[in-house]
Amino acid sequence: MRLAGKVALVTGSSRGIGREIAMAMAREGADIVINYSRSKDAAEAAAEEIKQLGRQVLAVQASVTERSQVEHLIGCAVEKFGRLDVLVNNAGGFPIKPFAMVTDDEWDEVMALDLKSVFLCSQIALVPMRGQRSGTIVNIASVSGLVGAVSMVPYAAAKGGVIAFTKALAREIAPMGITVNAVAPGIIETDTALDVFPETALKAYTTYQVPLGRLGSPADVVGLTVFLASAEAGYITGQVYAVDGGYTMQ
Ligand code: NAP
Repeated sequence: MRLAGKVALVTGSSRGIGREIAMAMAREGADIVINYSRSKDAAEAAAEEIKQLGRQVLAVQASVTERSQVEHLIGCAVEKFGRLDVLVNNAGGFPIKPFAMVTDDEWDEVMALDLKSVFLCSQIALVPMRGQRSGTIVNIASVSGLVGAVSMVPYAAAKGGVIAFTKALAREIAPMGITVNAVAPGIIETDTALDVFPETALKAYTTYQVPLGRLGSPADVVGLTVFLASAEAGYITGQVYAVDGGYTMQ
């Protein structure tokens, strides 16, 4: 098992991609901290599933947009497990709106959820990681941060920020033995994505823009994420990998 004995915190792991990553990391031997903001029942169900795998688990409600709540989240993790080895910055949201109609408040909300959260969680998680002189951070960015996306300017700007953040932080903390990488998914079939993107847009996207001809599934994202969190990726830092069926081919 590639993460045996490790402690992994996955933000936004009650549902969607984050839940799938948490499950995969548990299957690879990690004890898991589930984080959620609203979906308590779903978070508890995910925690129960992880217990059934024989791992230890903690589910913590905390909004990743608020420093005090992130301090609480990481404090709970360290109190229970005594260390933190892996942080996956996954929590996020992707509203669609034509650029001309985006309000100041909407801009600020996207920046808080998709970019400031990565700053807060990373800065606070680095306290125990620095003490251990080991750890790894995987940021879930998006192809929109690489090539843009129509009617998603704030989101693309935030995810582009996550990509630059990944590179800058990777350079700064490499001397501590801590790596930082990013995964940039294309459209992944989660309940939220199916809700946000019109069916016709998804059909056109998979037919004309994705060489592999289908949406991604959360399972498509987990293999690379687990690999980046494992010792096998110990000489990789500051990198951004697209998981997008060939959409960007960079
Ligand atoms: P999702 O199904 O909507 O799940 C979002 C998760 O984040 C939920 O567990 C949610 O928990 C949590 N969350 C939301 N706001 C939070 C907050 N303030 N504090 C803590 N947790 C919060 O989303 P997804 O489709 O899996 O996407 C996950 C990540 O992948 C996001 O960063 C997204 O931008 C990125 N991504 C997704 C796609 C895609 O097509 N799905 C493509 C590229 C990148 P609650 O329900 O408790 O709020």
